[in-house]
Amino acid sequence: MDTQPTASHFIDGAYVEDTTGTPIPVIYAYTGETIATVHAATPGIVEKAIASAKAAQAEWAALSGTERGRILRRAADIMRTRNHDLSVLETFDTGKPLSETIVADATSGADALEYFGGLAATLTGEHIQLGGGDFVYARREALGVCVGIGAWNYPTQIACWKAAPALACGNTMVFKPSETTPLCALKVAEILIEAGAPPGVFNVVQGMGEVGAALTTDPRVAKVSLTGSVPTGQKVYAAAAEGLRHVTMELGGKSPQVVFEDADLDDAVGGAILGNFYSSGQVCSNGTRVFVQRGLVDRFLDRLTERLGNAVMGDPMEMETTFGPMVSARQREIVEGFIAKGIEEGARLVHGGTRPDRDGFFLDPTVFADVTDEMSIARDEIFGPVMSVLTFDTEEEALRRANDTPFGLAASVFTKDLARAHRMAAGFQAGTCYINTHNLSPVEAPFGGMKMSGVGRENSKAAIEHYSQLKGVYVAMTPVEAPF
Ligand code: NAD
Repeated sequence: MDTQPTASHFIDGAYVEDTTGTPIPVIYAYTGETIATVHAATPGIVEKAIASAKAAQAEWAALSGTERGRILRRAADIMRTRNHDLSVLETFDTGKPLSETIVADATSGADALEYFGGLAATLTGEHIQLGGGDFVYARREALGVCVGIGAWNYPTQIACWKAAPALACGNTMVFKPSETTPLCALKVAEILIEAGAPPGVFNVVQGMGEVGAALTTDPRVAKVSLTGSVPTGQKVYAAAAEGLRHVTMELGGKSPQVVFEDADLDDAVGGAILGNFYSSGQVCSNGTRVFVQRGLVDRFLDRLTERLGNAVMGDPMEMETTFGPMVSARQREIVEGFIAKGIEEGARLVHGGTRPDRDGFFLDPTVFADVTDEMSIARDEIFGPVMSVLTFDTEEEALRRANDTPFGLAASVFTKDLARAHRMAAGFQAGTCYINTHNLSPVEAPFGGMKMSGVGRENSKAAIEHYSQLKGVYVAMTPVEAPF
């Protein structure tokens, strides 16, 4: 596959290049080789993209929801037809194994395009009857030009999760992928055009933080939706506040998984594997603090280490591979720093902790036991394949400790006790909760964080509220009664 894109940016329906921008190498995590180079957007490119999105917006919003939806649904179909090639590109971009990308990336993007495409025709405002015959109607209107800024772990999915609801509501978008994984969003732009989206409706520009900052502060931009870390979220939220722009913030987490003694052991272990080692642990909603009730801890760790022995590390393009490299050398170093701290602070290393003897940015799936709440590995987001197992005795204690974090993205409980499962779900301070599983994120369900993990929700009907606004129109049916 030729991984070098036609050009770095996609603006006004076509590929655009400006080689005076800083070169950004795209490195394949399995080999360390540079597989493409793109250039960061210059101020001229940023201007062109915003101007194009601005010019296209009124006409796009004037189409009926059915027409906009048809285009999105057509894009979903194209995406599914090309799933294999898009998944291979996603693997080149991120290093995630093809066995994952083939089921979790373009397919998830297509689901979002189909779901919001279907919803587009159903969007309505409201009619409010008043006394004396007067009434108010509320028009649901687009916000205008939206900016999307992505993280590197799910480049196709993030572009689609933002574009689909934005476009369904009649907005246009300028999307900046992460500089680490710039390739996939360009394909989303190509597909939308092929599906019939007018030029300018979805544009992609490359670049580092400065390009994101330039987009965030442009006076023509009505909304910024970021997927990224908490520190970046704080900067982007503050910058957006200057212009009172709408925001969606999908940020980091340190989510708990609480496993009670009555849980199905294999479901709990499976949930912990999914919630810590899928995508080599580079998932925002990971349940990295696994609280296991005291009587189950030994059996849990035995079964976990046994099942970790089945992980197949290797060439991400081989379908048998189930555990790939980390996205970059830098990210692996950050994670290794946390592993060293875990050992230094007295946690017991029960699995992994080291680099396997092979090329690529691999790191063994790592499990610490005897972790306490104050340790760095239990407090900070690591964003790598590192699980912390903590022990608890009572339900009250588990909930209190699970919530004792500034983050609030996800949480899960594993138990066969129905009432306890729902009590825990109600008590978790997290936007996305699971009972007897972890990390599934279907487009039908709201996804997002409480506390420092974010603002707003993606997916589900809730996303519509974050990409549209209501305009109240008061209609007088009787003569105006002025005081003089
Ligand atoms: P990051 O915060 O370093 O970067 C995210 C994006 O923001 C990048 O595109 C970056 O170029 C851009 N950016 C950086 N500074 C900016 C600024 N000042 N103004 C505008 N844009 C700026 O995050 P990352 O390392 O790419 O991704 C990992 C983080 O993302 C983790 O914390 C993870 O939890 C989080 N994440 C959250 C979700 C979610 O849905 N909640 C999903 C995936 C990843």
